[in-house]
Amino acid sequence: MSENCLFCKITRGEIPCDKLYEDEDVLAFRDIAPQAPMHVLIIPKKHLTGPEAVGAEDERLIGKLMRVANEIAGKQGQTHYRLVCNNGAGAGQSVFHLHMHILGGRPLNWPPG
Ligand code: AMP
Repeated sequence: MSENCLFCKITRGEIPCDKLYEDEDVLAFRDIAPQAPMHVLIIPKKHLTGPEAVGAEDERLIGKLMRVANEIAGKQGQTHYRLVCNNGAGAGQSVFHLHMHILGGRPLNWPPG
């Protein structure tokens, strides 16, 4: 946990969220500024700043994020969806706690902007 990290504060319950899933490793909640009808963020409870901070010891955790993300999308009635994980401000990362965006419910263009 990181004292001043927004997503760590959400994990600790200090900031509210629209929670869809939680277990001992993972938390998922709706994005506060949705970019699609389904826009969910899934995060590890462990504070990792982003993909570049993932170590070999985190491989199982990161695999779990993807498995749970697929389950969440299915429960939202979406079998076609996109997972986005931004690394660094230049790629659009604004919260430096690893998260995957789960986007769906509308046609998604490629390539992304
Ligand atoms: P990124 O830009 O990839 O770092 O994604 C961060 C995401 O966090 C953005 O889509 C924001 O809309 C979202 N966000 C910021 N604050 C909150 C919050 N308090 N609750 C839910 N989502 C948030």
